[in-house]
Amino acid sequence: MSQNLDRLEALPVRENLRGMSPYGAPQLDVAVALNTNENTHPVPQPVVDAISKRVSQAAGQLNRYPDREFTELRTALAGYLGHGLRAENLWAANGSNEILQQILQAFGGPGRSVLTFVPTYSMYPLLASGTGTEFIAGRRAKDFTLSAESAAQQVREHAPNIVFLCSPNNPTGTALGLDVVHAVYEAAAETNSMVIVDEAYAEFARFGTPSALTLLEGRPRLVVTRTMSKAFALAGARLGYFAAAPEVTDAIRLVRLPYHLSAVSQATALAALEHHDVLLATVEDIKMQRDRIVDDLKRLGFEPAESDSNFVFFGGMEDAHRMWQNLLDQGVLVRDVGIPGHLRVTAGTDDETTAFLTAVENYLHHE
Ligand code: PMP
Repeated sequence: MSQNLDRLEALPVRENLRGMSPYGAPQLDVAVALNTNENTHPVPQPVVDAISKRVSQAAGQLNRYPDREFTELRTALAGYLGHGLRAENLWAANGSNEILQQILQAFGGPGRSVLTFVPTYSMYPLLASGTGTEFIAGRRAKDFTLSAESAAQQVREHAPNIVFLCSPNNPTGTALGLDVVHAVYEAAAETNSMVIVDEAYAEFARFGTPSALTLLEGRPRLVVTRTMSKAFALAGARLGYFAAAPEVTDAIRLVRLPYHLSAVSQATALAALEHHDVLLATVEDIKMQRDRIVDDLKRLGFEPAESDSNFVFFGGMEDAHRMWQNLLDQGVLVRDVGIPGHLRVTAGTDDETTAFLTAVENYLHHE
């Protein structure tokens, strides 16, 4: 790796990329991989069949560029989200990472800034530097919560061009109250700034947790991003999307690459949406495993955060890296998110969750 970095040093890469490391959780070959918040349930066979059929129909026309406007897909996504949204409110790209990058390309860039509240999704600073946008790390309370007053005050203090709110937040797992989104939007309105609510994990939220989709009406600078990588169990398909006022999609059209969403991606996502009820059936099971992890970790003396997502962030161990290594030695890969005294684990299937909890008990016995 250091040899690779030396090799890179010799190239005239942009100054702000020097010394940086690429994003990437370890893709290790372990029995139980609970480190990247994927949906660990396989895609159900009826959905595999439907995807194969749609993709095979698309394959015969791959000599042509795909529908640049992916209108059929945007209509289907609007139908899935509800809230009176229409195709003109929807946009999609190759994962919500590309969505966030396109937003930064359109509304950020050199001389502009993005504010978010750390710890949060680790791609935000990388996407910021990749687009030459100044990254401002806002603060959370000691317990990682974020109040409406504090968030709005920090927006006023920094006057960023863009605010990223991650709800439910990765890596801490908890959703924000809509009062926070509301207060941030009001504060951001003073500087005509964009507010992006990253709801990658929204489908896993606890009962009664409202989505920021309910705030879109009448707020032209609010954007709610979603993905099919988590609840839909389609991380490999790379399909993210957002809902916003139609003029936001007009802005994104100025920066998107021509035909950025392949015909194969469109066909896959359409088939998945037609079967969203089958796909989303795993969500209730995952929420159950998630709650089981929270309860058991508490019982074992750890401090898990309240989770509205398909993962649990927990503290209470002496040395997070030692525990991470111990679990890995037992064949269970979780995520060391670099926050001292904390780890993050994805809720898996019943068996995977049992394997994780057993490994934690074994770790305690040997501590
Ligand atoms: N937002 C958050 C908060 C995430 O955790 C992730 C993936 N880990 C993403 C966005 C990006 O996901 P994708 O590109 O697969 O849609």
